[in-house]
This record gives sequence, C-alpha cells and structure tokens, in this order.
Amino acid sequence: MSDSPPRVMSAGAIAKSQFDVAADILGLEAYMRRILTMPFRSMTVEVPIRMDDGRREVFRGYRVQHNGARGPCKGGIRFHPEADEEEVVGLATTMTWKTALADIPFGGAKGGVQVDPRKLSPRELEAVTRSFTRRISIILGPYRDIPAPDMGTNAQVMAWLLDEYSARAGYSPAVVTGKPIMLGGSLGREEATGRGVVYCMQEYSRDFGLPLKDSRVVIQGFGNVGAYLAHFAAELGAKVIGTTDVDGGLFNQKGLDIPKLFQHAYRDRKPVAEFKGGQRITNEQLWDLSCDWLVPAALGGVITKEGHARTLDCKVVVEAANSPTTPIADRILEERGIPVLPDFLVNGGGVIVSYFEWAQNLQQLRWSLEQVNTELHQKITAAYRAVRDVVKEKKVPWRTAAYTIALARVAEAERLRGN
Ligand code: NAD
Repeated sequence: MSDSPPRVMSAGAIAKSQFDVAADILGLEAYMRRILTMPFRSMTVEVPIRMDDGRREVFRGYRVQHNGARGPCKGGIRFHPEADEEEVVGLATTMTWKTALADIPFGGAKGGVQVDPRKLSPRELEAVTRSFTRRISIILGPYRDIPAPDMGTNAQVMAWLLDEYSARAGYSPAVVTGKPIMLGGSLGREEATGRGVVYCMQEYSRDFGLPLKDSRVVIQGFGNVGAYLAHFAAELGAKVIGTTDVDGGLFNQKGLDIPKLFQHAYRDRKPVAEFKGGQRITNEQLWDLSCDWLVPAALGGVITKEGHARTLDCKVVVEAANSPTTPIADRILEERGIPVLPDFLVNGGGVIVSYFEWAQNLQQLRWSLEQVNTELHQKITAAYRAVRDVVKEKKVPWRTAAYTIALARVAEAERLRGN
C-alpha cells in the first residue's frame, strides 16, 4: 500500500473524461475518438506589420479548424496577448460541439492573434487584421472556413477581413459573419446570444416548474451577453437582483431597473456600480447572493472547487459565458443537485444567427428581424429539448447529455463521409 496522498485529477483530465463519458455512452471506437479530438487542420502564422512609429513588429497568429464533417468550419477570431495554440484548439473544439448541437451545417474553428488590441492604434489594428487575413486566407472561404468576432475583435475588424479576402477572391460577404449591417450583417445578431439564453431559460422554466416571472436572477457580466439577457429576462417579469461588471456591481432584492441600467451601463458604457438604484457589491459578493438563476456571462473558469462551487445558493446555473465552470466544480454542483445548463447549448444563439447571416449572404437577400428571431427560437429550443430528453431518459447531467448528442452527430457525419 502506498502512503502517497490521493491524487487530485487535473481539470484537463476531467474535461477529457467528460468527452470519454459521452463517447462511452455512444460506444465510439478508438479511431473515431481520435478523429473527434484531433484538429482537422491547424495553422500557425507570422503576422508582420509596420507600427505607427516606423518599427516593424511580428505577432503570432493561429487558425485551427477542428472539424468540418458537417459543413464549413465556423468560429471567431480573438486578439488577445495570451492567445496560444492550446487555447485556440480548445475553443475550436467547443465550436464543433456547439454547431452540431444547434444542428446548423457548420463545423468548428477558432483563430487568434497574440496581441493586445488596446495597445494598438486604429491603423495598427487594421494592419494586424489585414496581415493575418492574408496569411490565413488560403484556408478561408464561404464553403471552407468562416470567421466571426470574438474577444478583442468586432464588426469593424470583420469588415477589414472581408475587404482583404474579397480583394483576392472577389466579393465574398459569406466569408465572415458578425459584419456591420451595411456590409451584409444580419439584423438581430447583436442581441442573439442573450436572447438565446433567455429562450433556454423559458423552456427550463416550463419543464421544471421554475416560473421566470418574479424569479430572482443574478448575472456576472453586463456586456453584450449579460445586458441583453437581463433585458429579455426582465421583459418576462424576472427580477434581476444582482449584477456586476469588471469594476463591481449592484444588488437590489426587489429587482434592478433593467431598462435604465441597460441604457446606463450597456449603451452609455458607464460602470454598473455607478448606477443609482441598488446597494453596491464587490465582484466576490455576487457569488453569495441567494437566487433562482445564476448566470455567469463574463469570464471562463469563475466557478471552481476553491471558489464558489460548494457555496453557491441558486436553483440552476446557466452558462452564458464560455467555460465558466471548471470540470471539478461541475462534479461538486452535480453532487449538490444543482443543474448546470452548459455553455455550448445556451450561448449558441450567436452562432445560430451567424448561420442565418451566412445563408442570407449566399442568397443575397435580407431577413426581417421577426424572421431571424422566429428561426432562432425554433433552433435553440429544438437543441434544448433534445438535451432535456437525454437528461430525462439517461439520467445524466446536462453537459453529458449535450456532449452525447453533439458527438453522435459529428461521428455520424464522419462515418457517412467514409471516415
Ligand atoms: P463583453 O466584453 O461585451 O462583456 C463582458 C462583461 O463582463 C463586461 O460587462 C465586463 O465588464 C464584465 N467582466 C469582465 N471581467 C469581470 C469580472 N472579473 N467580474 C465581473 N464582470 C466582469 O463580452 P460578451 O460578448 O458579453 O461575452 C461574455 C461571455 O460570453 C464570454 O465568455 C464570451 O466568450 C461568451 N460568449 C459571447 C457570445 C457573443 O455573441 N457575444 C457568444 C457566445 C459566448
């Protein structure tokens, strides 16, 4: 017998074990597990530009196409000082499961440039975008790989990417989504992720007897996703009792005045904590608030074993942000009987409307906002219901159920293609 202390499983190992749990449920063969875990193609490029002061600088960029069995690869491009290949591979993999679960005809991809966009002038930002696009354009295309905005990039960056790509390939609006509306962006894209999160909450609310009206919602992050989901949840009568941004936040047991806070913090870009209408709280205090719906909508890795998993006081966690719950925390919440609606289900609204944008570009027509929202509702509730049925039938956690469906779809596509 050994006297060594029990080994704690690493987060990476548990993430892998999540994949394995679903792969075991499906009885996937070893070769198929390798196809579904290895990236289809991974490209590392130099990104040289001339800075405003005349110096030449070279950044490192990545584009990873994880899987394209179900359609062209799809995923954002982030500009971030810590972007690296491992992170980009992980995010590209998540995109494969997200597009499969949403049942849209895309695979998964992600890109990144290791640069701090806040330290670049607008001209330098444009130069980085164009240089990176030139290097990776050989693997892009409306039927190959379609980027979108992500952390540190926006609609303007996508407009430069479109221009650079089109200079070689001819007018190609469908090569990128998240574009300005003027250049073929879709109505409803800006609010799509927050709207999709609330559509999932509505479904859950009906299925599990947790009416949204008068229920208490706590949201970490009041940016694009957090602000819009607060807006739509409040429209349905929910009370958003607490929210934070990077500088702290507010609590109000009766519910914050969301239309006014939306204007103050999202439209006018002022700190949440400066809004009059609640008691100030720190970012840490947010996690102690008793609520029905806890919605992380800011950062990854915020619900951890050491952090809040053992103390959260909520009925359900709704992962609006990407990867907010570490795998170990996931297990703790499962033991505590708190369901976690996983990120690649509930935050799929953005990529679903990106798919509509791509489809509109290929057909050279524009959908009304009503059509976008109706189709978004149909797609995301179908994904939610498919996951719910597996949760009920197989008595597995929501994340495992979602993985099982996504893996099965991608594996089936691979098999049909003869792989
Ligand atoms: P955003 O930059 O618009 O907003 C982020 C918000 O989080 C801001 O309010 C910011 O102040 C806040 N924040 C940052 N650090 C914080 C901290 N320590 N404590 C509390 N709040 C903090 O970003 P977004 O587009 O809303 O994305 C939020 C999350 O949702 C990210 O994980 C992103 O990957 C994910 N996501 C976004 C989309 C989309 O369409 N925007 C789609 C899918 C997933």
